[in-house]
Amino acid sequence: MSRRKVSILGATGSIGQSTIDLLTAAPERFEVIALTAASNVVQLAADAKRLGARFAAVADERLLPELREALAGSGVETGAGLEALAEAAAGEAEWVMAAIVGCAGLEPVMAAIAAGKTVALANKEALVTAGALMTDAARRSGATILPVDSEHNAIFQCLAGQDIERVSRLILTASGGPFRTRSAEEMARASPAEAVAHPNWSMGAKISVDSATMMNKGLELIEAHYLFGIPSERIDVLVHPQSIVHSLVEYADGSMLAQLGPSDMRVPIAHTLAWPERMETKVVRLDLVAAGRLDFEAPDPGRFPALRLARQALEQGGAAPAVLNAANEIAVAAFLENTIHFGDIARFVEQALQTMNEPAPATIAEVVNLDRRTRDRVRVQVAGIAA
Ligand code: NAD
Ligand code: MG
Repeated sequence: MSRRKVSILGATGSIGQSTIDLLTAAPERFEVIALTAASNVVQLAADAKRLGARFAAVADERLLPELREALAGSGVETGAGLEALAEAAAGEAEWVMAAIVGCAGLEPVMAAIAAGKTVALANKEALVTAGALMTDAARRSGATILPVDSEHNAIFQCLAGQDIERVSRLILTASGGPFRTRSAEEMARASPAEAVAHPNWSMGAKISVDSATMMNKGLELIEAHYLFGIPSERIDVLVHPQSIVHSLVEYADGSMLAQLGPSDMRVPIAHTLAWPERMETKVVRLDLVAAGRLDFEAPDPGRFPALRLARQALEQGGAAPAVLNAANEIAVAAFLENTIHFGDIARFVEQALQTMNEPAPATIAEVVNLDRRTRDRVRVQVAGIAA
C-alpha cells in the first residue's frame, strides 16, 4: 500500500501536534510533505527533521534565517511568508490539515482547496469568514473538506450513508466551558487564566476563550451551516457538560444518531486521516461505566450572548459572519493581554455588527480586506477603552 502524503498547516499548535502524534505512530501509512508554523522555529525544525518532511515554512519572514540554520544539512527545504504557506498547502500532499488559528489561515486553506486536496479542516474561522466562497471553490476543484472540529466530525459520521434531505435537525453539543455554572458578575471579572482552563479539552488559548464565552459554539453553528447546507433554524445547541456525545443528527422519522468518544482530538483527526477507512489509535477508550451519566441542558442566552450574536450574523449573511469573527479575534486577543474584561468581548462583537456598513465580499481578496478593515476598526475601539 502506498503511503498517504500529508501536510500540516499550523503544525506547532494543539491540533498540529495531535496530528503529528498520530503520524509518528503510523509511519507505514503516512509520508510527511510539509509543515508550517507562525513563529516557533525550534519546534517546527525538530518535527520536520524527525518526520522526514520535505518542506518547512514559517509565516514570519524575519525568522527564515533562523529556520534555515536550524535545518542546515537536513535536506528539508525552507520557506517563509504567506506564499510559502500557500506552497505548503498546494504542494505534493494529497491530504492537508488546516490547523492555523484564525482568519490568518484563510489564504493557505484556499490554496489547498484550489489544488483539489482532501482538506481536514480544523480552522473554523476560515470557513466562518468565507463560507460559501470556500465550499464553492471546493465544488469547482473537486477538493474534499473533512471536518476535524469534534462536533462537525461527529455529524459527518452520523450523516454517512443517510439522505441529507431527511435530516430534520443538527444538534451541536457544547460543554458549556469553564463558566457554565458561574454567575454573570463572576464571569465579567474572570481572568485569562480562568477562561483558558477548559474542564474537558486541552486546546490553544484562542479557542479556549471562545469556549468560555461560547462564541466557539456560535462559530460552530456557522461552520455547520456551510459544511452541511442546513439552515440556521434547523441547527440547535445543547449543553452537555461531559463532552462524551460529540453531536447528534435528528432524522424525519424521529431517530437521532449520535457519535460518542473520549474528549481527545486525536479521535476526529484520525477519522479524517484514514477516511474513508479507519485507523488504529492508542487513545484511551471511553469508559461509559466510569462516566456513569450523560447530562443535557439548554444554553443560557443571558450569560452567553455570543451564541445569539453568531446566529444573528449567520441569518443576516453578507459581511456579518466575517465581521463577527474579526471583531471576536481582536477582542479575544485584547482579553488575553489583559486590556479588556471578559464581559467586554461580546460587547465589542455586538458593536462591530451594529455599526458595520459593508457589502457582502464576492472574492477571497475582498474577505481578506474586510477582515483587515474590521480588525483595524475594533482595535481602535479597544484602544479607546484601554486609554
Ligand atoms: P493553537 O494556537 O494551539 O495553534 C495554532 C497554530 O497556527 C500554530 O501552529 C501557530 O504557529 C499557527 N499560527 C498562528 N497564527 C498564525 C499566522 N498568523 N500565520 C500562520 N500560522 C499561524 O491553536 P489550536 O487550538 O491548535 O487550534 C487551531 C484551529 O483548530 C483553530 O481554528 C481552532 O478553532 C480549531 N480547533 C481546535 C481544537 C483543539 O482542540 N485545539 C478543536 C477544534 C477546533
Ligand atoms: Mg468543537
